This record gives sequence, structure tokens and C-alpha cells, in this order.
Amino acid sequence: MQGESVSGALTATPEPVTPDSVKPEPTERTAPVRAPRMRPRPSARTAGADASKRIERQTKRAVAAEAAPGRAAGRNGLHPLTDHDGNARLQRYEDRVKTAFDRIVPVLRRLSALQHESDFEQHAQSIARAELGFDLPDHMLADAWVTQLDLRRLFAWCVFETYRRMADDFFANDPLGGREVHAFDRFLQDCGFHQLDVTPCADGRLAHAISYVLRLPFGAVRRKPYAGGLFDVENTVSKWGEVELGRFREGVPNTADAPTRYLKAVIYHYSSVDPHHQGCAAHGSNDAAAAQAALDRLLAFRRTVENGFCCGASVALLLIGLDTDTDAIRVHVPDGADHMDLTQSVDAIKVHAITRDLEPTAARARVAELVKAHAPATADPGMLRLVARLIENNLSQIDYVRQVHGGHYADAGHAERFMGVGIGFEEIQLRNLTYFAYLYTVEEGAADLDVGRKIFGGLNVSHGLPIPIVIRFDYHGGVPGARERAATRCRRLDAALADRFADLDDRGLLHRLLVVRDSDAGTGIEVVGSSLDAPMSGGH
Ligand SMILES: [Zn+2]
Repeated sequence: MQGESVSGALTATPEPVTPDSVKPEPTERTAPVRAPRMRPRPSARTAGADASKRIERQTKRAVAAEAAPGRAAGRNGLHPLTDHDGNARLQRYEDRVKTAFDRIVPVLRRLSALQHESDFEQHAQSIARAELGFDLPDHMLADAWVTQLDLRRLFAWCVFETYRRMADDFFANDPLGGREVHAFDRFLQDCGFHQLDVTPCADGRLAHAISYVLRLPFGAVRRKPYAGGLFDVENTVSKWGEVELGRFREGVPNTADAPTRYLKAVIYHYSSVDPHHQGCAAHGSNDAAAAQAALDRLLAFRRTVENGFCCGASVALLLIGLDTDTDAIRVHVPDGADHMDLTQSVDAIKVHAITRDLEPTAARARVAELVKAHAPATADPGMLRLVARLIENNLSQIDYVRQVHGGHYADAGHAERFMGVGIGFEEIQLRNLTYFAYLYTVEEGAADLDVGRKIFGGLNVSHGLPIPIVIRFDYHGGVPGARERAATRCRRLDAALADRFADLDDRGLLHRLLVVRDSDAGTGIEVVGSSLDAPMSGGH
């Protein structure tokens, strides 16, 4: 079910979606029209003959659409409901963080060329301060004149320092406004839900799903990614129980007599540019399989609650698909009994096309109509309101990708800057910054770790750079001994990783930063160790 068949639902509307009304995103060939920051798109060149033909067709249509007078009624062809200020703020954040990581290699290249000069240390520090914003550790520079600058260690150190600074900024300054949860909490309860619990795939291309794709305050959403969207049913039931108990005991987030439900959502993903290669790795890039597996898991969760607590009516389910090239979502709206049809969905990119020439008020009303028209007749009104909001929010992200990334991300595939292993990582809200392996032990996450090794084998090791891994465990500060247990977990995982990837570790191609965080305190991360603390192999 690639594209057409699933999103066919909307073609039955009174306003049929003709190929011309669904304006395709420009490819690199049309980039000069409205894509100032367009970068080469490697996937388009390697996607095979079918994809190239399709892209060519899309390009012709995009050019025709650009030339058609009166087509782009909104500002610069953007949707009237697009949040321009929000887009600008999100772009500044994405640029700032990714640029900080991407400056590291050019700086190290310069240092490498300078390392035998007489004033190397001073010169290196002034370059680092100017380009990276921080000093390098003196001991890593001091002996460069007699041996060689250990660029692998220095690279890992810079990645970890950049990560640490990013995380500190995130927790201290809330750059995405994710803790402003009051308005959304109220809206969610008005829609009939007291908790939104979302599992996106753990793929780094979905790490921005909450803050960017859905435009929700991350503080108001429980995000729990799993490879392939296959969340742990027991863990979710336990979270559900915790939330329900909170309602009974404390009236948080609302009292138990309020007729609201716990909403569990899964986001599966697919690639419109290269559907057979850049879809979900956990499901062999088969989006039908990805959607079905996510739906099965949702139904298993509901059944578990029903079987164990005879109150299945207290949970609601939602299935969302994400095109990782355009960030457009499609939502499979459940009927009154929480059944979802994988062949029926509301597709935000089509809603965008249909409503973008309207005035904002009319566009908002039309979005709601379209959602209703393509949902089952028995769908819950509160669910329809929520889905309409998610679709509306996603319109801003569709325009974000069009404006900032030329319609499709240049990095259709993996381009993560480091690997995140363990539990936590609330601060990672950016696409393709981090490859995640959520796990407690190396054994249970072995498959995800091996995928990560393969990805970074291509991204880093093939260029002689080490794989930087942040090992992370969050803990509840109110629980006696929890911090020490989290730190112990970090150290255990560190040793297991070094062992599993000993061939890389021996060559200095694997480095780890050990981090814990008190998730109750709302404070930042705490570094509890690093493979860089150990003496250099060979040299010293
Ligand atoms: Zn996936």
C-alpha cells in the first residue's frame, strides 16, 4: 500500500483530487523556484529507474503548478493555517543544533593540518572557541608535536561536548516551548482524553515527530519510541495503570469520574521518494506490514486492559502513518469501537492541497469537514476534533519541509550524528540527529545495536571516524538509590558495548559517554563517565 491505495480515501470527496491539485514537492531540478537551502538529494539518484521516472513526472507537474496563475493563494503558496512564527523558531533551533555538530569535522581538519606548528595549542584553542564555542581539553592537544593528534578521540570528545551543551540548553531554556502544556492538556481533555501516549518508530527520522511533525508540546505527551513502532504492551499497561491510579488518588490529570480515556497512538512510517528502500527497516520497508504490525500491537494493548481490568472502554487507539520524506501524516481514524481500516486514512498532504486557497477560517472548517467525511460514520466526535487538530498542525510541517528543505529532505536515509542507547532522551526532538536503541541490556537490544553499527559503519567508520554513543538512563529522583542504579546500568551497558564491538573499540572507533538524568526534577543531564576518561591505548 504505497501512497495511492491508502490515501485513496480522499478522492471520494466532492472536490476530487486531480494530479494537478495535489501539488508535488519540487525536486532538486525545480529547487531554484522556492528552495533557497536545497541540497543534493542522494536518494533520488539511487532510487532506481521507477523512482527517477516518478520524480521526473512530479517535477514536470511541479513546474506546471508553479506557472499556473492563481494557484498559490496563500503567502508564497503556503497554507493559510501555517504557523509562520513557529516555523521560523523551529528552523532556527534545527539549524543551530545541527550546525553545531556539523562544524566539528571541518574544525578537526584544520587542526590536523596545523598540529606540528609551534603555537599549535593556542591556535587550536582559538579556532575551537571561534568555530565550536568551547575549548578543547589541553591534554589532548599537548603532545601533538611529538606524536600525532588523536583525531578520533578529539572527534568523539567534541560530539559529546556538543551534545552536552545542547541538552543543557534544552532543559534550561526550553527552546521548543515544550513545557507550555496547559492549553493542549485542556484541549485534549475536551476531546475526551486524559493522556496522550505516542510510540513512534525509534528510527532517527521520527525523532522530531512530536515537536515538529505533530506540533505538540512534548511535555504534554508521553513519547516512547520502539523499533518498528512495536511498543511493549506490559510496559504500556503499567503506565496506563499508573495514570488511572493518579486520577483516583490525586485527581491528576483529572478525576476518575471524568468520562475521558487514555489514548495510545503509534506512528509507523514510509518513504514516498524511495518506498522500497527507505521505509521502516524493522518491517523490510514494507509499509503495509508496518501499519498492520502497529495496529496489531494497539489491539493487543486494548485486549490486555480489557482482560486484566474489565475496563477496556477506558482506552482509545489511534494509528498514524508518516512519510519521512515530506513529514506529511496520514491518520487512520477509528470508528466508535476503535476499529481502524488500514486502507482508509485522512492524508494531510491532500488536505493541504484541497484547503490551501481558502481563508484561514474557511480552511479550518474545511479541514474538519474532510476529516469527518473520511472517517467511519460512528467515529467519536472528540476523536474527530483531535485528528483535525493533528492534521492542521501537520500542515505547518508540510510547509516547513517545503520551505526549508525543498519539499523533500536531502537526507532521505540515515544521517544521524550519534547513537543514543538506553532509556530517556527527552531532549532529542530533531530529525536524524540520533539513532536510538532503547534498551536496558545489550542482549535485549542486540538487533537494534547491530543495525546502529551498520548505519554508523557507513556514516563514520568508513571515513575513519569513531561511533559516538551516548549511554543514558533516566531515573526517578524520589526513589531511594535510583540514581546509583541508573549509573550502574550505564557502566554495565558500557562494558557490554565495548565487549560486543571489541573490534571497533580496539581501534579507537567506538566511544561512549555515560549520562543519567533525574526525570522528576526537571533538571538537565549528569555525565557519570566516558570512554575518553580511560588512558589512550598505545600512546600513554
Ligand atoms: Zn521504522
